[in-house]
Amino acid sequence: MTQRLAPETEEAVRARIAYFRDLGVFDFYRRQVAGTFEFSAASPAPEPSARATATIPDLENPPSMPRRSSLPVIAEPGELVAPKNRAAALQAIREDIGDCTRCALHKGRNKLVFGDGDPNARLMFVGEGPGADEDAQGLPFVGRAGQLLNNMIGAMGLRRDQVYIANIVKCRPPQNRVPEPDEANTCAPFLFRQIDTIRPEVIVALGSTAATYMLGAKSPLSALRGRIHSARGAKLIVTYHPAYLLRDPRQKKEAWADLQLAMAELGLKAPAK
Ligand code: URA
Repeated sequence: MTQRLAPETEEAVRARIAYFRDLGVFDFYRRQVAGTFEFSAASPAPEPSARATATIPDLENPPSMPRRSSLPVIAEPGELVAPKNRAAALQAIREDIGDCTRCALHKGRNKLVFGDGDPNARLMFVGEGPGADEDAQGLPFVGRAGQLLNNMIGAMGLRRDQVYIANIVKCRPPQNRVPEPDEANTCAPFLFRQIDTIRPEVIVALGSTAATYMLGAKSPLSALRGRIHSARGAKLIVTYHPAYLLRDPRQKKEAWADLQLAMAELGLKAPAK
């Protein structure tokens, strides 16, 4: 029989779940153990002793701010299990973002650019931020750089709707400038939640801004390309931003080498010409 929680308890649980969602933890399960509830970030290894669990000691009188001692050990992103319905989970993240005013970029925004593609994609591309075309349409990479990205995806033997595409920031920076750290750091947690939901095997970071915020450290692109990094449980490959490739097409060969690295990880073969 399903036991209903008292309305205040339900509210407290709801607030607690929202808090963990903001931290990037999306999946929870609830177990009733001797009159109390255990919360856990879901883990693929269902060994009870190995689970990262913590008890919420007094749900009837929850602390206004979560106390450190009552926080569950948050699973590394690599241990998180993607929700069964990724599309619905992405929609929940979109709803959490709402009509966002968390950073100054919202002031010049026409449309927020959440992300686009297959919620079950094995491959994800992360760019910097929307440009004018993306801001007008609310979709990532739909301008000239987007056309080139579509060609790059096609060269890998995939269609655009088979991958997922998002950006470090979801609102267009004025004059397409690089997002400020406070803007990127405010917005990126939502991207991380999208990644934790989709759980792609490979992420391709397009350009320096994407690489910096995906890796949490700034290095020259030349030092990052050509090898496989790790980010949020996925293999991360760094390549040039398509807008840069439009300015310097000689680097397309190098970018293709990066994409081939991604293809090898995914077991993809380039289509015959
Ligand atoms: N450049 C980006 O980094 N992202 C877009 O969506 C479009 C252009």
